[in-house]
Amino acid sequence: DLQLSDRVNQIKPSPTLAVTNRAAELKAAGKDIIGLGAGEPDFDTPEHIKQAAVEAINNGFTKYTAVDGTPGLKKAIINKLQKDNGLSYEANQILVSCGGKQSFFNLSLALLNPGDEVVIPAPYWVSYPDMVLIAEGVPVVIETDESTRFKITAEQLDAAITDKTRLVVLNSPSNPSGVAYTADELRALAEVLKKYPNVMVATDDMYEYIWWADFAFENILTVCPELYDRTIVLNGVSKAYSMTGWRIGYAAGPAKLIGAMKKIQSQSTSNPTSISQVAAEAALNGGRDCVTPMVTAFKERHDYLIKALNELPGFSCIEGDGAFYAFPSVKEAMKKAGIESDVEFAEKLLNETGVALVPGSAFGAPGYMRLSFATSLDVLKDAISRLDKALA
Ligand code: PLP
Repeated sequence: DLQLSDRVNQIKPSPTLAVTNRAAELKAAGKDIIGLGAGEPDFDTPEHIKQAAVEAINNGFTKYTAVDGTPGLKKAIINKLQKDNGLSYEANQILVSCGGKQSFFNLSLALLNPGDEVVIPAPYWVSYPDMVLIAEGVPVVIETDESTRFKITAEQLDAAITDKTRLVVLNSPSNPSGVAYTADELRALAEVLKKYPNVMVATDDMYEYIWWADFAFENILTVCPELYDRTIVLNGVSKAYSMTGWRIGYAAGPAKLIGAMKKIQSQSTSNPTSISQVAAEAALNGGRDCVTPMVTAFKERHDYLIKALNELPGFSCIEGDGAFYAFPSVKEAMKKAGIESDVEFAEKLLNETGVALVPGSAFGAPGYMRLSFATSLDVLKDAISRLDKALA
């Protein structure tokens, strides 16, 4: 029997991809399936971004670049962080990677020693705990629910930090809940972090541009500049510019940490695709105008979906501030159906209605379901009417 590493045996494949694959299988078998599992915008990448990539190919920009990103893209990132967030960085504080996923992967490998604890608020993006485990760190999960809009409090953060804590991960707007932290809430968390000078904090701002809250986007660093030397800002073009397939994410932080992450990347993937870097540069330099129609569509779908979910028997759902996910509680519906596991409930719904949802336990929050509304309003209406019939 082939022996595999302990490292790989303790992680699981991405459960969101698993649902998407299961739905694809059923679809291939001729079933009428509505996939609400995927975490990617349904829009095409804007034309000026695609054109920049075509020109890059035609100009022969098809060779290795600097491991940490082209000077042009790094400059565009530095300008973005200054303009949008009022944050100042030098080129040696920026690392461009193959998607936001690789940014966090590099961070885990560069920062964690075996046994180091990483505080992760739940519901969380599915990949954080597994990437921490690959780096032999220990995920420490803080549970939340609707009563705090799935946000951790200062007291919870304080209680979760130990002398082994190395990193705290914040993600706002959140995948999967769609909620964002206000400046006051972030300030309260920053007060706690100030007491622990050895703890680093990662702010995953991947959904910054998919935003409709009536307050302005902030992260832990924009509300507390004192944390500059121990904050790593993670962002990328995947969600904002509908560029998931291009694989460009980036990290900004202390030069020493960024240098270590770059070293990891230099011995794994090297530079992200040269062509994609040119496209990402065009995206960031082109500003947010092309994002606006996408956000308008997401907001319209959000408003429809939240209302419709709250009318489904046994479902209840809070409103989000951004991103493109709804995260209803299905606890009552599960009770009514006599089902205890949300994974089983998701399977039942998939089999009976053809609607593919991701069970909350994948995100560390059993009893919920994540629905992606990165799909047309008509498809969402179809999904809701099927669910309504099955649940009635
Ligand atoms: N961070 C969050 C919160 C996400 O939801 C995702 C993607 O699902 C990522 C990071 C990584 O994005 P990508 O690797 O596609 O750039």
